[in-house]
Amino acid sequence: AKNNGRNRFEFFTPAMQQMAQNRMRMIKELRVALSANQFRVFYQPIIDLNTGDIIKAEALIRWQHPERGLVTPAEFIPLAEETGLIVDIGNWVFRESARQLKHWGSLCDREFQISVNMSPIQFHSSDFVCKAWHTYLQELELPPHSFTIEITEGLLLDIDAAVTDKLVEFHDIGIQVAIDDFGTGYSSLSYLKRFDIDYLKIDQSFVRDLATDPDDMALSEAIIVMAHKLGLKVIAEGVETEAQQKLLFAAGCDYAQGYLYSRPIPAEALEQLLTAAAK
Ligand code: C2E
Ligand code: CA
Ligand code: CA
Ligand code: CA
Repeated sequence: AKNNGRNRFEFFTPAMQQMAQNRMRMIKELRVALSANQFRVFYQPIIDLNTGDIIKAEALIRWQHPERGLVTPAEFIPLAEETGLIVDIGNWVFRESARQLKHWGSLCDREFQISVNMSPIQFHSSDFVCKAWHTYLQELELPPHSFTIEITEGLLLDIDAAVTDKLVEFHDIGIQVAIDDFGTGYSSLSYLKRFDIDYLKIDQSFVRDLATDPDDMALSEAIIVMAHKLGLKVIAEGVETEAQQKLLFAAGCDYAQGYLYSRPIPAEALEQLLTAAAK
């Protein structure tokens, strides 16, 4: 009887078995990572193209694994979503970055903002996320509009009333909403009419060849014009070169984020950038 569990693996090739084992180990490790304090939030500055100021930062999670070192989100977010662990992880990212924001607010005189990524699983999972976040912001005396949630178009494909209600709820308490990876989802644009959205983030796949591919330039310009007519601000992602920055600025893009300015960096490093800029 003891071997019954193992027999199921007879249908797997050794490679598949290895993959299944890795997966199980990763799930086990992910479960302890939160309580073992192994996650880190890195911050990537977002620049106002008109002034050059850092006006906000995107919170991007990293996993400081005891043996494997710094693990990127691509390697564990999908598994965290499948297992539902993303809900607790997402709440942790929010609280951690809110604490940081509170601290930074006392350092620089300008208002500073944070953007957090929100997985559809997190969005659907609980009715309490929004209220809990609101309460936490009140405790810290942080204005809700200093937070933006980044969601992808996929979430809005769902004409599910629950999605609409939750988006309205976030918007009602004052948290801002950004559409991440804009233009890469297979959705219609009609959601832009139905939902209160504050920012579109032009996906890096459009920005990459901006200087050499007229189609990418045309698409980026069209997104910016449309967004502005709808009263939305535009953030360009993955800006790596001066040439891309120039073209985006000329097209009227509001904000930019990318290696040209900074990679995602630990809190202390962002703090140095902010205090240097405040002098
Ligand atoms: P994303 O939200 O589209 O984040 C942007 C990704 O592009 C980040 O990768 C960032 O490091 C990278 N990036 C920024 N500037 C440049 C650039 O100039 N060139 C290039 N080539 N890449 C650039 P990262 O940090 O590995 O995150 C990957 C994805 O993982 C994110 O994509 C997001 O979907 C997800 N993610 C990260 N943190 C969280 C989190 O706390 N919660 C959830 N649900 N998802 C997260
Ligand atoms: Ca994002
Ligand atoms: Ca993105
Ligand atoms: Ca992207």
